[in-house]
Amino acid sequence: MSYQNTQLLIDGQWQDAADGRTMPVYNPATDEEIGRVAHASIADLDRALAAAEKGFAAWRDTPAVERQKVMRRAAALVREGAADIATMLTQEQGKPFTEARLETLAAADIIEWFADEGMRVYGRIVPGRNLAATQMVLKDPVGPVAAFTPWNFPINQVVRKAGAALATGCSILVKAAEETPAAPAALIRAFVDAGVPAGTVGLVYGNPAEISGYLIPHPVIRKATFTGSTAVGKQLAALAGQHMKRVTMELGGHAPVIVCEDADVELAVRSAGAAKFRNAGQVCISPTRFLVHESVRKEFAASLAKHAAGLKVGDGLAEGTQMGPLANPRRLAAMTEIMEDAIKRGVTVAAGGERIGSTGNFFAPTVLDDVPLEAKVFNEEPFGPVAAIRGFESLDDAIAEANRLSYGLAGYAFTRSLKNAHRLAQRVEVGMLYVNQGATPTAEMPFGGIKDSGHGTEGGPEALEAYLNTRAVTILNV
Ligand code: NAD
Repeated sequence: MSYQNTQLLIDGQWQDAADGRTMPVYNPATDEEIGRVAHASIADLDRALAAAEKGFAAWRDTPAVERQKVMRRAAALVREGAADIATMLTQEQGKPFTEARLETLAAADIIEWFADEGMRVYGRIVPGRNLAATQMVLKDPVGPVAAFTPWNFPINQVVRKAGAALATGCSILVKAAEETPAAPAALIRAFVDAGVPAGTVGLVYGNPAEISGYLIPHPVIRKATFTGSTAVGKQLAALAGQHMKRVTMELGGHAPVIVCEDADVELAVRSAGAAKFRNAGQVCISPTRFLVHESVRKEFAASLAKHAAGLKVGDGLAEGTQMGPLANPRRLAAMTEIMEDAIKRGVTVAAGGERIGSTGNFFAPTVLDDVPLEAKVFNEEPFGPVAAIRGFESLDDAIAEANRLSYGLAGYAFTRSLKNAHRLAQRVEVGMLYVNQGATPTAEMPFGGIKDSGHGTEGGPEALEAYLNTRAVTILNV
């Protein structure tokens, strides 16, 4: 299937913006314009908000078991369309087709998990102090949700929000990323085609700041959820706070990877290498600060560099591609800046370090060793295919370095010692810690950060809790 232009979804109807405005969409592997996406105006947002209010009233009053059926139908549609959806995802985002397909299939899995979990949203009866009174704790959907999602996992970031919102009976108005609009639109289409009531899901694109600035304070919206950078997340959380709106914030990270003296170094290289260059490093839980015990550092750096140099970089639709281009030219500029700073500070470039070619946003898988603490790459989220390595002598030093930054999203560690594993579990300040393996972010496990990486979680039963009001009702038998 060829790449599709993307329209807005308002009140169950796919449509152009009222004023006909559109924006270009580019293929990051070729720099070519491949399609257009509708640009919503305030008039479009007003109609989408009215629809979200109406959709909420209908969906809230749909029994959980019926909601589950509709959601499961949507999951089946996503699965059936996975090859076409993944092709569009690769064309607009750049990631290899195999990764795009896995992201799409994972979305179906996430929808199913939330659909089923939605049937287990229970209240409770609390024994009263007065035996004539019945005390009930009720869980109700919070209301219409405004969701803002980025371009690195255009489907996954939407489905985690839509899955939880729909499972709990909320309606959701999504502003997905303008640079990668078609894949999230295909996901949303599955819910529409599966039969959610009109307005229960909506999709808009346009000027991100204008849309969030309008939707978050709007009285129809009861909750805001955002995935993206910490800087923008803080602005949106502040705005939500001013208007007393619930928020979930899934923000940036700078994941430490602690490789202990007793680690299986080969396993560490294999796991961290695969995780580091997945989606060209544009992953919020991407391993970034490699803290390696001095006794194994040289061996680790050489093996990781060999892995990086052996990766096949190219168009994500080409056979055998293991790493695609960066998703947009801003990331290429950021990598160049990181490298200039690193070279100035005397790092050892063990692999890569440069742009590849002059067409598309290709950047070589890069491994840097002897990285000083002050280097930009060790302080700002790189969000690209760069692994930065430093040595350590004691585990406590490594833990202190892991916790030095204000981020607290994911962390990784490799050790054969149970004692080390427990110490790491207790002391590393992250929302998700993976020991002796890469990340496995399934629907049933919490997914989210602490500290500046945000709050709230997008997996596990807690993800549904974030879309529910808890209310107390006491009825006296008179
Ligand atoms: P950015 O910070 O401007 O944008 C990040 C995302 O937020 C984009 O999808 C954008 O459309 C959206 N956004 C920006 N301003 C917004 C606003 N006022 N209201 C609503 N949405 C808004 O920059 P960028 O160049 O797109 O990305 C750069 C950085 O963002 C990366 O270096 C990375 O740190 C972070 N990022 C994180 C994630 C994640 O998964 N946590 C995803 C994408 C980007």
